[in-house]
Amino acid sequence: MKNAPSTDIVLQAEVDAILSDRGLLISPRPTVDHDKLEHHLREALRLLHVDLNDENLRDTPGRWAESLVTMTSGYDFTDVKKLATLFRKACSTADESCQNLVVIGGTYKTLCAHHILPFFGKFIVGYIPERMIIGASKIPRIVEVHMRRLQSQEHLAHDVADTIQSILEPRGLAVWMGGVHLCMVMRGVEQESSFMETNVLRGNFLSDERTRQEFMSIVNRRGQRE
Ligand SMILES: [Zn+2]
Repeated sequence: MKNAPSTDIVLQAEVDAILSDRGLLISPRPTVDHDKLEHHLREALRLLHVDLNDENLRDTPGRWAESLVTMTSGYDFTDVKKLATLFRKACSTADESCQNLVVIGGTYKTLCAHHILPFFGKFIVGYIPERMIIGASKIPRIVEVHMRRLQSQEHLAHDVADTIQSILEPRGLAVWMGGVHLCMVMRGVEQESSFMETNVLRGNFLSDERTRQEFMSIVNRRGQRE
């Protein structure tokens, strides 16, 4: 019998079972008290002796509060089902020799946990499916959920890897990230050309040199800073 095509969506009940088995439902943060947040941000600006009567600054505490809530909205996320559109993979599961590398890339921007300053760059995710593949748009969505939290580049890459690992349990998983950190550009070493790379490798990407090389050659072609 011919394999089901990879575009054949896995039954919803099967996906629900996977999500509950793997304990992926998390609790959201309580509602943010916007007025209190705005009040404290106003106080912070006062302590910096910023003139809040200046017409450019009058509404800044409110805007700052609103943008902080948006940029940390990943803490509100609970609906893992939105991340888990799964399809059967093209190779037969029984055929161990048949394996395909799936690679999806994109960009991210987030706030660093240490200085609340932005860092941003590119990500490249590669995986070798075990049984299923994930809808291509869901990987950037997983990155988005984690980037809208306070992060370090290493934690962001691990959080993305953990979520993909939990949903897919693939044979191998690699998450590469490269980024520019404004906390290194605008303060500290003030190094404008600093570019940081993080690489998380699991399963086949650790045990199989050829698979790792194939992924790294894609990173070298696509991931370099422009
Ligand atoms: Zn920082």
